[in-house]
Amino acid sequence: SIRRLSLPVRATEHTLIAVKPDGVQRRLVGQIIHRFEQRGFKLVGLKMMQASEDLLSEHYREIVKKPFYPLVRAYMTAGPVIVMVWEGSNVVQSSRKMVGPTNGAEAQAGTIRGDFSFHVGRNVVHASDSTEGAQREIGLWFQENELLNWESCDQDWTIEAN
Ligand code: UDP
Repeated sequence: SIRRLSLPVRATEHTLIAVKPDGVQRRLVGQIIHRFEQRGFKLVGLKMMQASEDLLSEHYREIVKKPFYPLVRAYMTAGPVIVMVWEGSNVVQSSRKMVGPTNGAEAQAGTIRGDFSFHVGRNVVHASDSTEGAQREIGLWFQENELLNWESCDQDWTIEAN
């Protein structure tokens, strides 16, 4: 069964980032995590898992009826994924920019998809597309006790207090 939960209300924003099975197979996990760390975002949850078809059809409920969905399901369940929750102001929109458009062939160099992919069906990474979507996806992939609220030592050097 699929569990839903929402993060405790905090001032800042969260997003779900996943390294898809091709990213894991191609040993890109470290490089992808590095980009989010480098930007200054805070990691508050991370695990490796095998996605079930049920979880995946919930996650991709907006495309589940599309003709290409069976290929997406085969791709996304073909091996383990790394799922992560990243925190930071505007992290949803910023992550989408870092990830680039769905089709790597259209993605700019410098984006994750632009640097590591060229085919829509092997696009290496997932990033939530809205704050509401992020809350929903985080609730699908994570239990509440898997998310940590911790104080990062560089906070004053990445965010100006006002
Ligand atoms: N996808 C695909 N073919 C398509 C469109 C999408 O294989 O024509 C896959 C691709 O892995 C994509 C995922 O389905 O990342 C979800 O599609 P969406 O439009 O939500 O793109 P995203 O938000 O991941 O950029």
